[in-house]
Order: sequence, then C-alpha cells, then structure tokens
Amino acid sequence: MHLLPDSLCYLNGQYLNLCDAKVSVLDRGFIFGDGVYEVLPVYGRKLFRFEQHMDRLERSLTALRIANPLRRAEWLEHLRTLITSLADRQGIMDQLVYLQVTRGVAPRDHVMPAGIPPTVFLMTNPMRQPTPEQRRLGVACVTADDFRWERADIKSISLLGNVLARQISADSGATETILLRDGFLTEASSSNVWIVREGVVCGPPPGNLLLEGIRAELLQELCATAGIAFQRRPVPREDVEAADEILLTSATKEVLPVTTLDGRPVGRGAPCGRPGPIYARLFQAYQQAKKHQSI
Ligand code: PMP
Repeated sequence: MHLLPDSLCYLNGQYLNLCDAKVSVLDRGFIFGDGVYEVLPVYGRKLFRFEQHMDRLERSLTALRIANPLRRAEWLEHLRTLITSLADRQGIMDQLVYLQVTRGVAPRDHVMPAGIPPTVFLMTNPMRQPTPEQRRLGVACVTADDFRWERADIKSISLLGNVLARQISADSGATETILLRDGFLTEASSSNVWIVREGVVCGPPPGNLLLEGIRAELLQELCATAGIAFQRRPVPREDVEAADEILLTSATKEVLPVTTLDGRPVGRGAPCGRPGPIYARLFQAYQQAKKHQSI
C-alpha cells in the first residue's frame, strides 16, 4: 500500500490533515470526473506564474460552466497557508501545489445540476524534480496515437486518456508518451512537446487538441530573451523524427531534453542522443526566470 503523505490541506473552507479530508461518494468529481485542476510550482516558498495558472483555471471553469468559487486573493491566501505549513513543519521550500474544483455533490444525473456549491480542494507536496542523471543524459520517450477526446484544452480531472497514454511509456521504462493525432504532434501525456530544427524551437499551435501549458508562453518568452527563433505550426511525424532536439515542458519537468525516441537517438550529427545546445540555453534561462517571476 502507498503511504499517504500527512500534511495540511484545504477542503471546502476548512484546513485539515490530508489523511482526514473526505468528500461524498456522490461528488460529481468521483462519479463523472466532472471537475478541473491546476498544478503550480513553488520555488523557495514562492508561487511561480500564479496569475497565468489562475487565468487557465478560469478558462477551464468557464468551459464547464462552473463559477469560480474563490476570488484570486482567496486562492492566493489558501495556497500560501499550505505552502508555509509544509515549509515550516518539514523544511520543504520547493513544492508542487495541486488545486481542484469539482461541480459538487448531487444525485447522479448527467445533466448539470444548478445552484450546488462546488467542491474545492487544495494540497501541496514536495516538488519532485527530474534527477541530475535525467538532466545530464536526457530522457527516453515513446510515441503513440493520440486516442484522447477532442477537448484536451480543458484541464479536466477526467484523465483516463492521459493515464492510459502515460502507461504505454511506463511499461517500457520510458519517461513520457509523445502523442500524434492523424500524423501530427499534439503533446505528451502530461507535458507539452517541442522540437528544435535548425535552431528554431517549434511546437503545435494552440487549439482544442492539446493543453496550453503555462510553460508554452514562458518558453516563447525565454526564446525571445535568448534570441532563439520560436514558432507554433503543425508538426508532422517526419519533423519529430528528424528533429535536432526534442524538449518536454511541464510544471515539474520545467524544460527537459528527450534524447531517445522509440528506441532511437534524437538528432543526427553531434550531439546525437545527448541533450543539445538549445536545451542548455533554455534550461539556464528557465532557472533565471524562476528567480524573478515568483510571488
Ligand atoms: N499537457 C498536459 C496533458 C499536461 O498534463 C501538462 C501538465 N499539467 C502540460 C501539458 C504542461 O502544462 P504546464 O506547463 O502548465 O505544466
């Protein structure tokens, strides 16, 4: 059995021990996966890109027709209470905050019930960053057909498609499953995917088929600062396979190099199968951004 971490969490107006927090079996999150979530990185007790995460939460809630149950200042206050608790009690300064809103508790019926209070849940955990070895050598990924639904832009807690996709790579000891729909790159099971060709960082355009990561806009900014060309355009499989570098981005991975794809080394000339020069520059730029973009 996996041991549950014992830390402070927030549930529907109360601060509780995580082990004591309970929701109804009729919660629509439990019954239908009818809810949304966010995952925010915390560095040195400070939230990274809080406003952008809140904007995305707002978009996801709107897509589900759920009114945002808290004002932004309230979200911030609750997040900070949990962050401070984990930092003070366990000395953990770098954390990963998880927040979830479901439609709430109601008799089981697909139709959205009107006027019920949403369920609001927040917790924080120690940040689990990529290992030094993953940073030095890069990671292995496999590709798979993107069989998920066509509203991947909503940060929905209904993640069965992503869970099934992730397990494909887990089964072969790889770090991520890179998904292609009709022969075009979408994203990975829990990261965005970027290719580098001839010095240009390139990713698929935003739309309903992928989640717009908070690091997508950040990567664009980092590229602009570093003088690296950045493009969003449809990326066919051939371009993924011929890429000089492949990068993953997410709250935990930050920016992470993919050095093996479907068992073959990424890139052609030197440094084939090794993290590339664009990765090295973007990783450095990311570390800088962490220092001055946190609140
Ligand atoms: N796509 C999916 C499916 C994800 O789950 C994530 C991680 N939340 C991302 C992309 C990357 O998003 P972010 O940069 O906001 O972590």
